[in-house]
Amino acid sequence: MPEGDSVHRAAKRVREALAGRTLERAELRVPRFAAVDLRGRTVETARSRGKHLFVVVGPDALGRDPVTLHIHLKMEGRIHVHPAGQRWRFPGHTARLVLAADGTEVVGTELGLLRALDPAEAERAVEHLGPDLLGADWDPEASVAEVLRRISRRPVRTIGEALLDQRNLAGIGTVYRAELCFLRGLDPRDPVETVADLRAVVVLARRLLVANADRAVRVTTGDTRRGRRLWVYGRDGMPCRRCGARVETFRLGGLADPDEPSDSLDRIAYRCPSCQPRRATLARPSSEENT
Ligand SMILES: [Zn+2]
Repeated sequence: MPEGDSVHRAAKRVREALAGRTLERAELRVPRFAAVDLRGRTVETARSRGKHLFVVVGPDALGRDPVTLHIHLKMEGRIHVHPAGQRWRFPGHTARLVLAADGTEVVGTELGLLRALDPAEAERAVEHLGPDLLGADWDPEASVAEVLRRISRRPVRTIGEALLDQRNLAGIGTVYRAELCFLRGLDPRDPVETVADLRAVVVLARRLLVANADRAVRVTTGDTRRGRRLWVYGRDGMPCRRCGARVETFRLGGLADPDEPSDSLDRIAYRCPSCQPRRATLARPSSEENT
């Protein structure tokens, strides 16, 4: 499941493969944009904003306007970069985007979203997003303050939902949500208003994403060995690494970005019942109370 750090890396790989190069092959395998022909144009750059990926393609020889490809990987999307002509290691029918230049091919498979926009439309497509945790424009004061302002607008919402809401801050998915809440000792169902140090949550989010931005494996424990990299995510029923209690899971929404998947499968929340005691102050049916 791609989170901000993996999209950031995908943008970097696309940039290294294609920036400054002229497209020899360019296929958008989605009905609405199948007729878009970008061959002969030069790729200017690729960049990420939260979990959105943009490939910026310059004007053509006739001076026709630049085109920005807007991509969202959603659940299963992947970006492959390999030498052009190399046999694909994925089923051909999953390819949605094929770009090639100078002997390198970039293929996007199972993309949740692919569209060709003019640059201004591309900007508008992400203007609802909160500050990008991996943005070059992240400011330790102003960006944090902006995130806090946005999250605090809905004080009775759960912190787990607030962290997934890309309008608050961009880049967190279910993995970082789980790890952040564990590291801060928060039950993801705690209302925002009960979180004692919300600023620390935001600062830690930025730190975790930056730490993982340029490495192939995602680590929050400091231990890069296989099976030891995360505190609670993916560890349902297993003993907490800190206290030994059984890690539990439940569903907790967070849908807010219209480009995000609407099913709940990826909305699993994790929690160690001992390290993350519940502070809920909202009235809930007693059957849901388990602390
Ligand atoms: Zn624990």
